[in-house]
Amino acid sequence: MQVLVTGGTGYIGSHTVVELQQSGFEVVIVDDLSNSSADVVDSIASITGIRPQFEKFDLADGSRTHQFFSDYPDLGAVIHFAACKAVGESVTNPLKYYRNNLFSLINLVRGMTDHQVSNLVFSSSCTVYGNPDQLPVGENAPVKQALSPYGNTKQIAEEIIDDQCKVSSFRAILLRYFNPIGAHESALIGEQPLGVPNNLMPYITQTAMGIRDHLNVFGSDYHTPDGTAIRDYIHVVDLAKAHVTALERMLKGEMKEQREIFNLGTGTGYSVLDVIRSFERVTGMKIPYRIMDRRPGDVEQVWADPKKANEVLGWKAMRTLDEMTLSAWKWEQVVSRKNKA
Ligand code: UDP
Repeated sequence: MQVLVTGGTGYIGSHTVVELQQSGFEVVIVDDLSNSSADVVDSIASITGIRPQFEKFDLADGSRTHQFFSDYPDLGAVIHFAACKAVGESVTNPLKYYRNNLFSLINLVRGMTDHQVSNLVFSSSCTVYGNPDQLPVGENAPVKQALSPYGNTKQIAEEIIDDQCKVSSFRAILLRYFNPIGAHESALIGEQPLGVPNNLMPYITQTAMGIRDHLNVFGSDYHTPDGTAIRDYIHVVDLAKAHVTALERMLKGEMKEQREIFNLGTGTGYSVLDVIRSFERVTGMKIPYRIMDRRPGDVEQVWADPKKANEVLGWKAMRTLDEMTLSAWKWEQVVSRKNKA
């Protein structure tokens, strides 16, 4: 079975390509390389021994996307990651986000429909739940007003897919991720943020590497045991494996509805200080940090109820927080060596 992975040279996409290939799928990657590098294709080939096919173009280009589907008539399914994901940038440049994230989805769904490719796994986010009323967060928790254009593109994308499922034989699984961190055990692929990282894990590893002077901890007056915000961090390899499981469920015809939703998290919340302590424990290093004001738009605490994914998908996140932080550190050392060379 040939599977299109859009955004396949990105962080979660590249880990998913590896898991797909190791499960016997043939992968075609489409990526415009706006936030990743073609070297990732080599790294994937080094890990799996199989070179995925790779096409570089922007899915927001409708005629190019149409052409792609004509060029690859054997595609059986699509996993769609390609999207811009910087929350702050989406606030200052909303049109970029609506254009890139929604035009690309519409072109993709159009291409799939025209070429009778009816299986889609979509990369969504727990941001759709906003500040949840109840913890842990199950799939039936209400979708709240989005706090950023980025978050809104995920909500609108889910609605577009939903609506398309109502009028055709289109099948979709929407995967709502919690906080993916860590890197592949080979340290050949991982997260490569451009410029100053927005996210906690790469900021910690860059601080350990001496690239950043110290870590800013955003808020210590939350209503949590140590006062810092709580998230459900999940190892990116566990997350990648969930995509393969979801795809197999779809292809075996096991879906109960035409459109299914799963929350992907471990079910355990950790505070910012927990993550710092884990990193310090596994590396023996000290992370200098300063307590700052809360970051605008941050939710206080959120973690998943992964029961539906555990029971219905038969998938469970297996890797511990220490495994996540250690793998992130191994990857940072490789990236830093590469950048110096
Ligand atoms: N965070 C922090 N310092 C940083 C980056 C993030 O204290 O430099 C905190 C952030 O306020 C949040 C948690 O770490 O409570 C996770 O943030 P991240 O940006 O990684 O993911 P988010 O949950 O915002 O998607």
